[in-house]
Amino acid sequence: MTPSIIWHPFTQHALEPRMKRIVSTEGAYLVDEDGNRILDAISSWWVITHGHRHPVIMQAIRAATEAYDQIIFAEYSHEPAERLAEGLIAAVPPGLRHVFFSDSGSTSVEVALKMALGYFHNRDERRDRIVVMEHGYHGDTIGTMSAGERGVFNAAYAPLLYGVDQIPFPEPGLEQHTLDALEAFCRTGHIAAILLEPLVLGAGGMKTYAPDVLKSVRAIANYYGCLVIADEVMTGWGRTGTMFACEHADVSPDILCTSKGLTGGALPLAATLCTSDIYDAHLSTDRRKTFFHSSSYTANPIACAAGVANLEVWKHEGVSARIQALGNLHGQHLPRFEDDDRFSGVRRIGTIVALDLNVTASGYLADVGPRMRRLFRERGLLIRPLGNVIYLMPPYCISMPELSHAYDAIDEVASIILGRPR
Ligand SMILES: *Cc1c(COP(=O)(O)O)cnc(C)c1O
Repeated sequence: MTPSIIWHPFTQHALEPRMKRIVSTEGAYLVDEDGNRILDAISSWWVITHGHRHPVIMQAIRAATEAYDQIIFAEYSHEPAERLAEGLIAAVPPGLRHVFFSDSGSTSVEVALKMALGYFHNRDERRDRIVVMEHGYHGDTIGTMSAGERGVFNAAYAPLLYGVDQIPFPEPGLEQHTLDALEAFCRTGHIAAILLEPLVLGAGGMKTYAPDVLKSVRAIANYYGCLVIADEVMTGWGRTGTMFACEHADVSPDILCTSKGLTGGALPLAATLCTSDIYDAHLSTDRRKTFFHSSSYTANPIACAAGVANLEVWKHEGVSARIQALGNLHGQHLPRFEDDDRFSGVRRIGTIVALDLNVTASGYLADVGPRMRRLFRERGLLIRPLGNVIYLMPPYCISMPELSHAYDAIDEVASIILGRPR
């Protein structure tokens, strides 16, 4: 046990060793105080897209500090926010016309929920229920926890969480159950919005589902006049092989949340985009219809400048081709685990791969996750399994040998945990 004055996130300090300090980052690596280079195979909790300290983004940040710090974002605007908003509208699926800035993924979802409720409130329609998907994750604030899967992570806070309507996860072959459940909720007439992570549920265990499900959700929502909120906080910026995951299904949500890769992962920033319909429902000479939301650091100009630089990187550095290449590399490695009885559910979507280690005690609290973390750490890798789910979500700059190292480590660690080779 190591007493720590810093209370680290998702960390049981009674069980963890003293954390080493990271002294610098570069590309796919973290460098610790002893000079060890650690391969960041999970993009530092899914935020780093191109690689750590991308020179174009770092330069944009330095340049922005010559002109700006934080500026109040009511009464005044600034160029980095305006350029970023224009770039975002061009980058997301069509139909999203307005951008509301905030500072984290959780906040972007809170904003989305408030936009949805405000939309119906301002139109004097009584719709105030939210449909969510089983195993969903939308953040750690009270509001987003309410919309996420209930479990050991939020049991203590359950008295503060509001009720939502949950549809089952669309397991392969059982998709119709999910859609039927959705339709039953929609028929009540009380559903304001359906909030979901398109195509892959991240924190819920990298669970993937077919684009057709998203298409059908969109169709049902249209029929019953419900809004669709796509939480693309994790799936955005190329992770699933397209810039946004909704593109796989050719679907435009009414509201889209983005954060993690928005600045390439360099600085905290988030945006919630919405349709003109939603914006217009808040546009009125009646001040009570104002969208009442703000945070102190809304649209921080330095973070926005990093976001603009990220868009430049996307435009000029062949990011899409790199993502395809990374997907292909995964495709070469992954088959070795496909008929391996140590694993099940071997899956890939774009740059993300996941596989379930066949242990009997699954679930987050099982010891297997922390044990694997330590074994990966000893092999110079940052990999944090979700219970028995091992996944890789590397920055796009990762090289072929680096990726091979990660796959070899998964093979080795699995054998150690299970006490047997393949
Ligand atoms: C990480 C995540 C969030 C929360 O983002 P924070 O920046 O950690 O608040 C919300 N939704 C999804 C899908 C996420 O993966």
